[in-house]
Parts: sequence; C-alpha cells; structure tokens
Amino acid sequence: MTSRPARKRFGQNFLHDANVIGHIVASIDPQPGDHLVEIGPGRGALTKPLSQLCNKLDVIEIDRDLAADLEQQDWARRITIHRADALRFDFAQLIDSAEQGADAGSAMRLTGNLPYNISTPLLFHILDHYHLFSDIHVMLQKEVVQRMAAGPGSRTYGRLSVALAARCHVESLFTIKSGAFQPAPKVESAFACLSPLAVPLVQPEEWPVFDEILRCAFGQRRKQLGNALQPVMDSAAIAAAGVDPKQRAEQLTVHDFVSLTRIARR
Ligand code: SAM
Repeated sequence: MTSRPARKRFGQNFLHDANVIGHIVASIDPQPGDHLVEIGPGRGALTKPLSQLCNKLDVIEIDRDLAADLEQQDWARRITIHRADALRFDFAQLIDSAEQGADAGSAMRLTGNLPYNISTPLLFHILDHYHLFSDIHVMLQKEVVQRMAAGPGSRTYGRLSVALAARCHVESLFTIKSGAFQPAPKVESAFACLSPLAVPLVQPEEWPVFDEILRCAFGQRRKQLGNALQPVMDSAAIAAAGVDPKQRAEQLTVHDFVSLTRIARR
C-alpha cells in the first residue's frame, strides 16, 4: 500500500507495532457472526485482521486518498468503505434488514483508533448513537480515557465522565506507548471499552436537560451549583432534588445529576 505522508489535520497516527495490533484485536475478540464498524481505518492496520475474523465490517474514512488506497487491497473486498466524516455520520444507516427486528438495538460493535484532534466531539456524537452498539472499543489519548473513566472528587471528572456514566460502563483496558505509532504522537494512548447499560440512567427524552445541566455545572466547575445552574434551575429546585446547592459539580455522582434532571424537567 502506498505510504502517503500522514495528514495532521486528520489526526493521522498509524499503528505499526504488530504486538500492539494483536493485543487490540484480541481485546475486541471479533466473532464470526459479528457486524463491526470501524472509524478511521487509515492504512488498514486494524481493519485487515478485523475483516478476517468477522462477518461484516463497515469502515468510515474521511481521507479520500486513504479510502482509495484501501479499496485497492484484495482483502478489502470483504469490507464496505464509507467516505464520510464520522462526526456527521448516521450509524443507524448501517443496520441491515436482517438485523432489524425485535433486538435491532445493539446489533453492531463499534471500534477505532480515533483521531485525537476531534476526540471529545466524536465521543459525544458516538454517545448519541450508543444504543446501536453492543460494545464500543476505542483508542484515545490517555488523558481523555482518564477523563472518560473518572469518578466524583477527581480532577479529571467532568461533563464527559458523567455523560458516559449515564449510558455506559467505561473500562480503561491498557495503555500504549507513542512508539507504536507512525508518526509517534506527543502523548501516550489508552484503549478503552464502553459497554452500554441495559437500562440507561437517563431516558432519551431527558437527554437535552441532562446535557444542559452538565454544561452549566462543569462550565463553571469552581462555582457552587446554586450559581452555576441558575440558567436551568434555582437553589430550591436543586435542594428538592436532594442535592446541596453549596456543592460544586465535581462532588456530585451521576445519580445526583439524574435527580437534578428529573426536578428541572417538571
Ligand atoms: N486505524 C488506523 C491505525 O490504527 O493505524 C488509523 C488511525 S488514525 C489515529 C485516525 C484515522 O481516522 C485516520 O485514518 C484519519 O484519516 C481518520 N479520520 C480523521 N478524522 C476523521 C473523521 N472526521 N471521520 C472519519 N475518519 C476520520
């Protein structure tokens, strides 16, 4: 495959360490009947081994040159390449008619060594579609995975941690040194697995208010909730949710945020 220079604007850091690639594929553990979706196949480091282990693989790549190179590969005949921006991609279109029906929900599995330059917006976009997947394995900057998995009281606990905790169980699986990539990124990476909760803590109709509360609360995380949440609810409403308005966002559990959402919606 032609080795085009990596494009920084697309967050291209290609995996080239066979041991690391093997470890990632083993963690995903594709099964013959699986329908996998990969964001950012790049030069196919993960795509090729994944394609050999599963039934169906859809890949979404924004870089048209890389997508064209992939298409030239013999092994790539088994996959479907979507030239598209994953940030705007509607993953529901990938569910085929055979998968629709009673359990259409979590029919697919999502994975990707994600472009680090758009990691937070991409994670929020994935969260909008999380119910389509039985699990989601992603490689990201180590600090982002720490934020994803953080709990109350931690410096890294924030909007992303709570938004994820309401919908998924987050597990950081292992870290990867920058030498495993070409070009080597300046940061260490981590591989994480998100498993959607059987019953999410927040229902779809509650998401807009829940997200608004998280934005206000963590947008001014040093402020007491009574002040930070003023655009959404007053101190009496916060207290009615069983939360002390003198507390700050980083002290609250995901369940506290759910209680605030239920009161604010009334
Ligand atoms: N999977 C390959 C690997 O592990 O070697 C490449 C990973 S590289 C970190 C990120 C990949 O995502 C690149 O192929 C890049 O072109 C692609 N990408 C970047 N932004 C994207 C976007 N918005 N939508 C889809 N693909 C994107």
